[in-house]
Amino acid sequence: MSTVHPVTAGASEQEQTGAGPLAWEQELNPWLAAEARFNLAAGRLGMDEGLQKVLRTPARELTVYIPVMLDDGRIEVFTGYRVQHSIARGPAKGGVRYAPDVTLEEVRALSSWMTWKCAVANIPFGGGKGGVICDPAVLSQSELERITRRYTADILEFIGPEKDIPAPDMNTNEQVMAWMMDTYSMHNRQTTTAVVTGKPLDLGGSRGRREATGRGCMIAALEALKRFGLEPGQTRVVVQGFGNVGGMAAVLMARAGFKIVCVIEYDGAVYNAGGLDIGALMEHRRETGSITGFAGGEDMDRQEALYLPCEVLLPAAKENVITSRTAPKLNCRILLEGANGPTTAPADEILAEKGVFVVPDILANAGGVTVSYFEWVQDRMGYFWSEQVVNDRLTEMMVAGFDSVMQYAQAHGVHNRTAAYMLALDRVAFAIKLRGLYA
Ligand code: GLU
Repeated sequence: MSTVHPVTAGASEQEQTGAGPLAWEQELNPWLAAEARFNLAAGRLGMDEGLQKVLRTPARELTVYIPVMLDDGRIEVFTGYRVQHSIARGPAKGGVRYAPDVTLEEVRALSSWMTWKCAVANIPFGGGKGGVICDPAVLSQSELERITRRYTADILEFIGPEKDIPAPDMNTNEQVMAWMMDTYSMHNRQTTTAVVTGKPLDLGGSRGRREATGRGCMIAALEALKRFGLEPGQTRVVVQGFGNVGGMAAVLMARAGFKIVCVIEYDGAVYNAGGLDIGALMEHRRETGSITGFAGGEDMDRQEALYLPCEVLLPAAKENVITSRTAPKLNCRILLEGANGPTTAPADEILAEKGVFVVPDILANAGGVTVSYFEWVQDRMGYFWSEQVVNDRLTEMMVAGFDSVMQYAQAHGVHNRTAAYMLALDRVAFAIKLRGLYA
């Protein structure tokens, strides 16, 4: 837990810029990436050592081994995690991801990012994250349901509307949230919709939640454009990832007049200099299972696509896309981080040298958890808002978060990511100081 990023730990932004390359695995380790950014921001704030220890360490980590009967009668044991990084500002909050390569270190890093994200968004939550090592692509719906229910049952004492509120993340969705909510409710003998967010509309979900992360990205993009005196119509966007975040962001940004010139997916990329018809591209993927071979654009190499000249590059898939290897070749003015942790710590230095305006993940993709907060509020009050109210309040909170980060950047003379971390650390540290240490 106390592993220190060997190059970036405690180094100032200036010192980091001439640092030699880190070992590749270290560069890709998400927990080291989180620590590097934390150390930089805490150092800039001159934060007390003891407080740094508290903030650096997760509050609780739970590993569960989930025995599940597969459809063919075999029993498999899956590994699941739930990490609560902080409950200083409120209950832990964050998604659950299903993927074959989930690790505890990844979930730990993601849980700390949730703490910082909720603080930047200024919503009354701490940070948490969950994950199950499994491959949803080869599991049936009933197998997924059994995994979800057993995982939920095994973390039951950990979660609750006032304790820790899971939500969708990679490869989990409204249906998975409905199963989690039902399992929790059956155990407690009362329907408790506020235990998870990202639920179906008919089960206490919020209007606008499905689009929220993408919409938040668009709002952040519009704020960033103002800094460059650009209009959406003059803005070429390259989107990497066409799932819930990238797909929704592309739809909404295209509707707002942005030119989505390229979409990159795991199996290819499609390009159109005049802007892709995103609705038609979605339809094409629905029919063929892939974005490639789309009549409204040309296929191109997915690695090369990342380096296309554009105003906005929107990585909206996984961690570690912008690295010390790819960052030097980028040709974007704004890097809008729709995914969690798409940029490695050494890449930050390269982006800074290139003068790329980074909208960091803990700000850019905060729209999802912000509307999750709205969902939790609506569930608890039993009164549901119109989509317009949700979207207006989301805009207000995203703009406020963006402005606060810009103020920190200016006041402290740091880049946007460090500014976002400094803002978050300040807010969480303030809550800890007010609460005091319980002994
Ligand atoms: N998984 C999303 C994120 O990483 C949403 C979390 C939530 O709504 O609690 O921000």
